[in-house]
Amino acid sequence: MVWASQHGEPQQWAWTGGIDEWRLVDISDKQVRIGAAVTLAQAVRFRELRSLISAVIDGAAVVGSVQLRNQATLVGNVCTASPGGDTLPGLYVHDAMVEVVNAAGSRRSVKISEFLCAPGKTNLAPGELVTGLTLCGLAPHEGSTFHRFTQRNALDLAIASVAARVRFESDGQTVAQASLALGAVGPTVLDVADAAALLVGHALEPSRLRQCAALAAESCRPITDHRASQDYRRQLVQTLTMDVVAAAAARARGSIAMTL
Ligand SMILES: Cc1cc2nc3c(=O)[nH]c(=O)nc-3n(C[C@H](O)[C@H](O)[C@H](O)COP(=O)(O)OP(=O)(O)OC[C@H]3O[C@@H](n4cnc5c(N)ncnc54)[C@H](O)[C@@H]3O)c2cc1C
Repeated sequence: MVWASQHGEPQQWAWTGGIDEWRLVDISDKQVRIGAAVTLAQAVRFRELRSLISAVIDGAAVVGSVQLRNQATLVGNVCTASPGGDTLPGLYVHDAMVEVVNAAGSRRSVKISEFLCAPGKTNLAPGELVTGLTLCGLAPHEGSTFHRFTQRNALDLAIASVAARVRFESDGQTVAQASLALGAVGPTVLDVADAAALLVGHALEPSRLRQCAALAAESCRPITDHRASQDYRRQLVQTLTMDVVAAAAARARGSIAMTL
């Protein structure tokens, strides 16, 4: 359910689940389009999405609980704009574009990093709705993964989370391209391009992974709250980054398939 509001009061209501074309997933070459009414559970069950946008599906698979994933949409997770939204780091590494339409029918497309402005805030104007997301899927020799840390396995928000995308040269050893995004350790998801760049042009030696993880931890901006301290969150980012890059690399090499 979505409302278009002004001054905080709902004025118009829209039931996105009733719009047939918003329930569609389109795959064309490596481009993926996911309509605004596609639920998290539907996205997770869609087998081709697991291999094309693995990090997003890892995130979708752990949101809330089974009941919640059966009802909640991927686009709803984006529009909630929680810094700890589980699908968001994956959407960053898959270069997601958010498709927006207004009441007059004009359309625009916004990069996810520009769409998410602050905790709970998007750049949607009054009367605008999101119609879907377009994403850049994985190429050969490429893998992506999302990991989060929570105190419980369900119905718990991430204390820290990381998504990584890694592409190898055809030798299967040298990193050709890498991206990293951090969740729950800043006002919005953080794209830590400098940390990811440390991997490019090199084999994934443990020392290089450690350097990359240390820079990711330095770059984040966590808060201390009732769930964890800043320092603890920073340490989590360091550990999660090491794990997630190694897992994305394993998927890129085809040595670990998704087991959802
Ligand atoms: C008990 C509980 C546990 C949760 N656990 C998690 C968790 O573990 N991880 C996590 O990431 N999130 C969690 N959430 C948050 C939430 O469930 C997700 O963000 C969910 O994906 C929201 O999707 P929805 O389709 O239900 O959106 P809604 O709740 O219907 O909408 C969310 C917001 O987005 C707007 N919106 C939705 N669709 C559109 C659209 N097409 N265009 C414009 N605006 C739109 C709505 O107006 C509203 O402001 C939890 C929530 C609850 C209640």
